Amino acid sequence: MSVREIVTLGDPVLRERAREVSTDELRSPEVQQLIDDLIETKRAANGAGLAANQVGETLRVAVAEVEEGNPRYPYKPAFPLTVMVNPVIEPEGDEVELITEGCLSVPGTRAEVPRNMAVTVRYLDREGNEQVEQRRGLTAGTFQHEVDHLDGLLIVDRAEPEAVTSWEHYEREGKDGFEARAREIVARYGS
Ligand code: ZN
Repeated sequence: MSVREIVTLGDPVLRERAREVSTDELRSPEVQQLIDDLIETKRAANGAGLAANQVGETLRVAVAEVEEGNPRYPYKPAFPLTVMVNPVIEPEGDEVELITEGCLSVPGTRAEVPRNMAVTVRYLDREGNEQVEQRRGLTAGTFQHEVDHLDGLLIVDRAEPEAVTSWEHYEREGKDGFEARAREIVARYGS
């Protein structure tokens, strides 16, 4: 396993639609190595998730995990490591909330992004088994963020121009209000 460099806004790979991975390819040492590297790189950067585009690979592979007390996102409920290959997200219901998100590929920035509060996620795990999960609240938002990456979309594309701020401005002006609202979202929708 190794920590890879995370590419940032401006690198065209972030704007590419990543391609589906075949089950044969998924079994290959290269793709299994990519998965291990995504996990290690995500953990080293304290991210909530990481998609293959973010380390320069245009394959539909992403990982998501929030550990207790994540310093970037202290308000996010913890959930276990999920490795997703070819993930597809279906919104359930029409409840949408504006979530102030960060992104390892858009350093120093927060953006308020509309996210469905209940989704079904279908994907292959790293062994190639089909998985179907319901995700809610902020966790549903994290999964939508990762699948957006695989479609070449970033938080700055989803947000209104005035809803994009520096992380420093967020810390100063937005954090207390958003963290209070995040707690309400967790109480209302679960994870
Ligand atoms: Zn991101």
